[in-house]
Amino acid sequence: MTDLLASLRDELATLGAEGALRPLAVLQGPQAAEVTVEGHRLINLCSNNYLGLTTHPALVEAAAAAARAWGAGSGAVRTIAGTQSIHEELERRLAAFKGTEAALTLQSGYAANLGVLGSLLGEPDAVVSDQLNHASIIDGIRLTRAQRFLFRHRDVDDLEAQLESARRQGRRRVLVVTDGVFSMDGDIAPLPAIVARAEAAHASVMVDDAHATGVLGRQGRGSVDHFGLQGRVLIQVGTLSKAVGVLGGYVAAPAEVRTLLIHAARPFLFSTSHPPAVVAACLAALEVMEAEPERQARLWANTNHFKAGLQRLGFDCGRSETPITPVIVGSAERAMALADALRERGVFAQGLGFPTVPRESGRVRTIVTAGHTTEQLDRALEAFASAGRVLDLLPSPSRARP
Ligand SMILES: *Cc1c(COP(=O)(O)O)cnc(C)c1O
Repeated sequence: MTDLLASLRDELATLGAEGALRPLAVLQGPQAAEVTVEGHRLINLCSNNYLGLTTHPALVEAAAAAARAWGAGSGAVRTIAGTQSIHEELERRLAAFKGTEAALTLQSGYAANLGVLGSLLGEPDAVVSDQLNHASIIDGIRLTRAQRFLFRHRDVDDLEAQLESARRQGRRRVLVVTDGVFSMDGDIAPLPAIVARAEAAHASVMVDDAHATGVLGRQGRGSVDHFGLQGRVLIQVGTLSKAVGVLGGYVAAPAEVRTLLIHAARPFLFSTSHPPAVVAACLAALEVMEAEPERQARLWANTNHFKAGLQRLGFDCGRSETPITPVIVGSAERAMALADALRERGVFAQGLGFPTVPRESGRVRTIVTAGHTTEQLDRALEAFASAGRVLDLLPSPSRARP
């Protein structure tokens, strides 16, 4: 038997030698378009704060008022004494926003995926999942004993083939699962075709709109609204931690799904509910999203401006169609070098490499928000231009490309 701490030290030494240990970046102040990290003011291109709501006065005031009126904590899990009337009010508002009969909130988007997959699917069932789905979906599938079929990313013909395999094996329930917007590439799931193939195979569809809520659809209702597929996607999972600006996850679905989850979803049953301040801030966020549609318009104007600027410089932005814009540079080392060079030039963006993304497509992932000014985005583009030149990442006009 090895000593646990000694063996951890070995493991860390190996990770360190591979350059895989990165210190946490610590923000000395609020999450916003510009942040202070280790005393430096940086233009922030790596938050999920799409609509700039983390610091919106309506959310901050709602949180403070709720803490005063309802207390700092909820004191119990939802099924014991941890359901306050504002928890249910938020669920009614979410259902209305998502156009579903019911909704249930959980502690996070991660918990929502674990809860919904773990309780709806069992051994006789099958889950058919896009190969690039988020880690929380992968972990949720691991909790089920259902048979797993992966389909090639956004490939609906492969989806159809996998559905046919599930049918031949006589699976009971078949659930197709996809992200609405994919978090590494910023591309959008072909939801109309996915729904059509699933319907033809008598399978149900679940979409995870973590990166689509606040971004796609009317007032940010998400990918189902964006494609006009109301009533044809059984389950919409999402997070209250990205565009909504606070914390939490939700499942918007028919009432039967909500009832089942209340009785079977383990994160719901065995983990304490949100503090009132979180719930009230989420309610305020939904109001702001409906009352201030100019935020979503600004998010898209910023996205188009920034993406066009990166492409004009000659960067490879992959298949991005949303505010998530990767700058793909090759190896993990190159991605980390670009992130470091950007930081020296006043821009905060994270480098991502294998195994988070495929080996040859290391990247710096950028996300603009409604809170950025054009001036900030132009300064960020200058930093990309300068860092790209110094690291020789850009096609040079004088050098003919093969
Ligand atoms: C971020 C994310 C989650 C997790 O949401 P949290 O609220 O942060 O736990 C789940 N699914 C997808 C697709 C995500 O991007």
